[in-house]
Amino acid sequence: MNVIISKNKISLPRKAQRVNNPTLESLNLPTDEAAVVDAIRQRGALSRTDLATISGYSRAKMTAVAGNLIEKGILVEIGAGESQGGRRPRLLNFNANQGYIAGVDLGATSVDVAVADLTGKILARHSEAADVHAGPQVVLGRITAIIAELLAQAELRTAQLTAIGLGVPGPVEFTSGRLIAPPLMPEWDGFPIPATLRAAFPNSRVIVDNDANVMALGELVSGTGVGVEHFFLVKIGTGIGAGIICNGAVFRGSDGCAGDIGHICVDRAGPVCRCGNVGCLETIAAGPALAERAAERARNGQSPKLAQRLAAQGYLLAEDVGAAAAAGDRVALELIQESGRLIGEALAGLVNFFNPRLIVIAGGVSGIGHQLLASIKQAVLHRSLPLATKGLRIDYAALGMDAGVRGALALASKHAFGATAGEASAPAPR
Ligand SMILES: [Zn+2]
Repeated sequence: MNVIISKNKISLPRKAQRVNNPTLESLNLPTDEAAVVDAIRQRGALSRTDLATISGYSRAKMTAVAGNLIEKGILVEIGAGESQGGRRPRLLNFNANQGYIAGVDLGATSVDVAVADLTGKILARHSEAADVHAGPQVVLGRITAIIAELLAQAELRTAQLTAIGLGVPGPVEFTSGRLIAPPLMPEWDGFPIPATLRAAFPNSRVIVDNDANVMALGELVSGTGVGVEHFFLVKIGTGIGAGIICNGAVFRGSDGCAGDIGHICVDRAGPVCRCGNVGCLETIAAGPALAERAAERARNGQSPKLAQRLAAQGYLLAEDVGAAAAAGDRVALELIQESGRLIGEALAGLVNFFNPRLIVIAGGVSGIGHQLLASIKQAVLHRSLPLATKGLRIDYAALGMDAGVRGALALASKHAFGATAGEASAPAPR
């Protein structure tokens, strides 16, 4: 990216400036029209009066702005809302025929794809196992085939797909939509994901983002984070990452990797991480690390329950540790508490730094039982400033494993109408 520096002033190219601005990020539309579209995206169908109140525009201006959006085919009138006395106001919502979107949640071992209309209503959906190590050509080829199949199921044409949102488990340079040196999936380093998907879906904008950011967006739009201005979502799975919501929008930092907390060092004498450093949080507290430590204790004869499972399956997963703990195994419980404590201590520093109102715990490992959440809470409360924890809530994701695909759809919907980050050559809205 070219950065122009002149007389103490640093200015970025237009596209880059747009990235972290929640209002301008959304559309190629004029600011007043974008504000109306954002309001409907967040709250659903609204009357012109509601929209005028929310936006602060006069009733006359709102009538004109709504008229422009209806003329462009972006909004339609969908019948009458509740009367406040007098005639029942007509509600405005997205024009479902304006286009359709796809949301893709790619994990290290699974992929979840949904096709929806612009209001976020899911029309077709498919999940299956995936292996990111098969490389981007293979995995994106499969994702392309799934989207095509889902469009066919929903009786839609390829040309009707206007945006694809894709969450991936690694650091994404948001402006280019590329993974940069992803520890979990090195085969994908710098691969042109947007261009590859657009070759199959030429009318679509393709927006790629880190999976934790995408899940945070999902929880913001329709989960635990609805109405919360500042929060974190921590995904604990094969790795550990966080999505940051600041002022009601995803905060990605300068380059896109804000929230990559899995590589915070929590033990200088700890194991070597895939990133090349030592003692990273995810080498001790993520799913595979938890399972590996459990297998070690089982082999040492410290836990008969874990040893039994190891002998029966030949391997242990984080879920096995959860099940053993639920069945009263002391070693399994200790391991979960230790993971929770380490994650909580790392989060405590971030809580003091950022003062969020909410921390959402998500990802595959969050399903292993209540003890993990209890240990995270305890460590955060113990290590953070009283003022920072006074109004702080820590909870599991309300959307559960749906947060990823819901967030990917929200990402697509947010960018469905205009050129955006990750898409230098997006077509103009039709
Ligand atoms: Zn690391």
